[in-house]
Formats: sequence, C-alpha cells, structure tokens
Amino acid sequence: MNKFHMVDLHGQYHKIKEEVDTAVAGVLESCQFINGPEVKLFQQELEQYLGVKHVIPCGNGTDALQIAMMALNFKPGDEVITADFTYAATAEVIGLLKLKPVLVDVYKDNFSINLNAIEAAITPKTVAIVPVHLFGQCVDMEGVMDIAKRHNLAVIEDVAQAIGAEYTFSDSTVMKAGTIGTIGCTSFFPSKNLGAYGDGGALFTNDDELAKKIRMIGNHGQSVQYYHDEIGVNSRLDSIQAAILRVKLRHLNEYAVARQKVAAYYDRTFKEYTSIITPEVSNYSTHVYHQYTLQILDVDRDELRKHLAAKGIPTMIYYPLPLHVQKAYLDPRYKDGDFPVTEQLCKTVLSLPIHTEMDEEQLDYIIHAVLEFVQPKILNTN
Ligand SMILES: *Cc1c(COP(=O)(O)O)cnc(C)c1O
Repeated sequence: MNKFHMVDLHGQYHKIKEEVDTAVAGVLESCQFINGPEVKLFQQELEQYLGVKHVIPCGNGTDALQIAMMALNFKPGDEVITADFTYAATAEVIGLLKLKPVLVDVYKDNFSINLNAIEAAITPKTVAIVPVHLFGQCVDMEGVMDIAKRHNLAVIEDVAQAIGAEYTFSDSTVMKAGTIGTIGCTSFFPSKNLGAYGDGGALFTNDDELAKKIRMIGNHGQSVQYYHDEIGVNSRLDSIQAAILRVKLRHLNEYAVARQKVAAYYDRTFKEYTSIITPEVSNYSTHVYHQYTLQILDVDRDELRKHLAAKGIPTMIYYPLPLHVQKAYLDPRYKDGDFPVTEQLCKTVLSLPIHTEMDEEQLDYIIHAVLEFVQPKILNTN
C-alpha cells in the first residue's frame, strides 16, 4: 500500500508530469519569468472558469487579502468582521493595516461564520465582512450579501480553501465561490485545491474600477511605469507558477470529484457512529473538500491521533486555537467563553487525509484504524 499523506503532491505530479514539464520548459526557454504571456493566459482561463470579469494574480493568498483591503481604501481604526475559527492570515492583514479585526463565532455544523453574530457585531465603524469558505464549502453568501447591502459594507471572500465550489442562490442562480462579494481572494499554495509548485495567489472582482486599482496597488502603486500614484506593494505571480497552474486548472474539476468520492466513502461508515460527526454539506453549496474534518466526541481526540500516527496515518487539527486566544490577537474585548462554538471545535475537530490520489484500500485501512479506537466493542464482536 502507498504511504499515507494529508495531501499527495508527488503522486499527483507524476500523473501530469509530461504536461507540467513541457509547460515549465516553455517558460525556461522563453526566459519571460515576470509578467510573461503565461500569466496573462492563466488569468484569462481562470476568469472563464470562474465566470468573473477580472482575475488579478498576485504573490500569495495573504497578499491578496491585504491588497483587497488597501484597494477598498479602509482607514486605520475601521472595523472588519471575520470568523474566530479560521487560518490566522485572514485576521493578520486586518491588523497589519491597522484596521480593527472584529471576531465572531461560527456555526457548529458547517464551520462557517454565524450570520446573527455578524449582525450583532456591526457598529458605525464597520466597513467590511470577510467570510471564509472554510475547508472547501461556501458560507451562506446570500445571507452575507443581504447584511452587507443593508449596512453598506464591502464583502471580501477568503476563498483560499474553496476554489471551484459553487453557491446556489434561492432564485437558483449559481455562482462560483469568490465571485459573489466585492472582491474574492485566493491562494495557490501547493496544498490548496488549485496549488502551484511554490507561492501564488489571486484576487477576483466584477468591478472594472476596482480591478484597475487592485492591479495598480499590486504593482508598486504605478498607474504608468515609473509613475507612482499611491503606496502599493510588490506582489506578482511568476510565469513558471502560472504555466503550472494553467495545466492544473484543466484538472481542477476532476480533482474536486476525486476529493468528493473520498469524502463520500468516509461519510458512509462514519455516519453510523454517534461519537463521530461527519462534515455537513449545506444545501446551498457544493463541497470541494480542501479538508475532510470530523468532530470527535466522547473519546480522547489526541489519543486517537496518536493511535492513527502509530499506524502511519497522519492527521491534522485545523485549528488548535481560536484567533481570540492567539498571543498576536489577544484583545481586552475578548475573554474565554465569548466564542463557545469555536472554542469547542478547536477541541474536537480532526482532519483526515483527503487528496486526489487516494484509493479504497487506503481508505479502508484508515477507517478501520479510526473505528478500532472509537468503537472497540463493536469491532470485537465482528
Ligand atoms: C492558505 C490560506 C490563506 C493564505 O494563503 P497563502 O498563499 O499561504 O498566503 C489565507 N486564508 C486561508 C483561509 C487559507 O487557508
């Protein structure tokens, strides 16, 4: 049996090696490493895939979030609402720009930002909501957009974990994650669903003016070369990464299907067990399973991890700490118990291996190992 990985980039590469190697060799031969034609082609192909007017590639997902907030002209002290249960990058750029991160709790079943908590956190200083499509599934965007409209707020979607996921509105309109809000921000970090072989990121928007501004800020604030209209940053997707991403974009839908099959296989068995809560799929979103995240109840999660590790099965805890208790984000506004769902999730979540190269033999081995620990009595009678 193959070795277990959280994500098998090596196995995936070998299936598309010829396509990737040819693409990389093409860039090497052209020597157009920065802003070469591959970057423009990738941009256009991603625009088409997402059904969005503008894709603006940049250096990584964190830069994308920062550039989005700079492009929207937020001023120090402005309040930006985001989930307490997320990767720190989301809140990091808010703090870096001297804006005020306002954290809110999430829903237990699908890990996404709680709409009532957003409403309750809005003040006259609030300028934006940052919904995070965590683990590969869309937040209730119709609800978020409704709140944003009523309070005149920008919406910056963090779609680093959910590229390709589809949201269905109540009138049956379907839109891709990241193309619904004011700006969508994604990451092409290697382990993401659309991963480069290095760093990369992008912003999405349907607003022509905003797209222009985003391009300018990501390129040293230049309107014309050597004419700098404002302070920007240097954040580019390099041509080699763009060429690799063009290859992988052609496989993205089939990769999502492979992940969905793994999730369905896990679900089938784990759903039978009351001490394991399988990830809920909302009726308004597809799930592209960046992570397959269980909630483990009644048994010691950390002992379960050790049991699995001893059998060669890696697991991860996304995330072990809520943002409001992280040293960098401590704030007298928040205390223990303020975000009960996030606090509980941090103690119960467990992500199992899920990727494009898993087979049933591996899945059976993992499932067996989990059940061996969770329900020994049931197994002993088999
Ligand atoms: C990966 C990730 C980011 C940051 O992306 P980088 O490319 O690593 O900077 C931001 N938000 C979320 C939710 C992520 O998962």
